[in-house]
Amino acid sequence: MNRKKNKIYIIDVTNRDGVQTSRLGLAKLEKTIINLYLNEMGIHQSEFGFPFTDHETNYLKANLELAERGVLRPIILSGWCRAVKDDVEKAYQLGLKHINISISTSEQMTKGKFGNRVVRYPREDPSRPSIIGMMVEALDEAKKREMKAGVNAEDASRTDDEFLIEFARMAKQHGADTIRYCDTLGCDDPPTIYRRVKNLAQEIQLPIEIHTHNDLGMAVACALAGAKGAIDGGVDAYINTTINGMGERTGNADLVSVILALRKSSGTKKLNLLEARVDLSQAWRIAKYTSYAFGVPIPINQVGVGDNAFAHESGIHADGALKDRRNYELYDFQELGRGEPEMVETGRKITTGEYGGIKGFRNVYEKLEIKFKNEREACTILELARYANVHTQKPLVSDELLFIARYPEQARKILTVAPPSS
Ligand SMILES: [Zn+2]
Repeated sequence: MNRKKNKIYIIDVTNRDGVQTSRLGLAKLEKTIINLYLNEMGIHQSEFGFPFTDHETNYLKANLELAERGVLRPIILSGWCRAVKDDVEKAYQLGLKHINISISTSEQMTKGKFGNRVVRYPREDPSRPSIIGMMVEALDEAKKREMKAGVNAEDASRTDDEFLIEFARMAKQHGADTIRYCDTLGCDDPPTIYRRVKNLAQEIQLPIEIHTHNDLGMAVACALAGAKGAIDGGVDAYINTTINGMGERTGNADLVSVILALRKSSGTKKLNLLEARVDLSQAWRIAKYTSYAFGVPIPINQVGVGDNAFAHESGIHADGALKDRRNYELYDFQELGRGEPEMVETGRKITTGEYGGIKGFRNVYEKLEIKFKNEREACTILELARYANVHTQKPLVSDELLFIARYPEQARKILTVAPPSS
């Protein structure tokens, strides 16, 4: 049997699936700050954007530069591509070394999206393109360019076992590094995803990514069960998460909940499956920032980071918690980086923004203990901060201001979005 101890890693997809959320989005500067926070939190990988989308180009390039400079390291930055050669080519040209190649695998989606133009198996009709053929063509392109590539089976949860296994086997034969099992509609339940992923792992012996949605309120439970299926099938598992569970419709598996579930749930905690470097104490900061960036408040009863996560009021509970917190608390608020009082200025407040001037701006930066070499540098950073405010359209937070002052060259690139000329 497999001697190496298989592990669970986290691939956060906030900057890809999270930003696909209807009516919501993130500015490129906000996506960058999220990548920095994910890195500091010890998250394995950030699926940080779309290489084939032109308005992402400067953001992607600047973040890859930050990786090269060691600022965004050791986190892996990976791009999401359709199973199209051109997407892979674009990702390569931008300098990406990691991508995921995605295509629908269920009969429903193949017929429902491609009609009669595409078949699933190449042997069905060699004159028409096939799902497996398209995946292989894009994957071969990535491997020719020595990129690491995962292959995503979109709607895997509604795909029959026979096709899913053949799809994954072909992906492995053509050098895929992982296969992503997508519960795109959130229709799986924990026992089902466990069984199916374990079976897939045993058949293929390729690391499996678990991508779950919350349409039935089970995204986190299914992520955990699917990952356990991969481990029991003898391979590593990579859970896809988003911060605060943001994502299409009812969202994805929430990052903080997944970490807590792996580290604190009765059966799983003893197994010590999650990569050790994941730092839960960053949870509060990343959840708060992402809530601010999306403009979506954290629900009062949100796991770990909600206002009420450590609040007790009823007589028996309050009394019990005061006598011994373990009576009613499964984990401590300090573990999530909570507990620091938040300072809110109630008197005079100097802010800086798109119409701000040099004096107010210096005041804001002095409070952050940033010193400028000379007047010219101060003016350059001021101008960038103004543009950053034009770009985010909300007051800049300390870490955004610090980022601009520390990495002006990358900030300039991130803030530059130029539509193509007609
Ligand atoms: Zn998704």
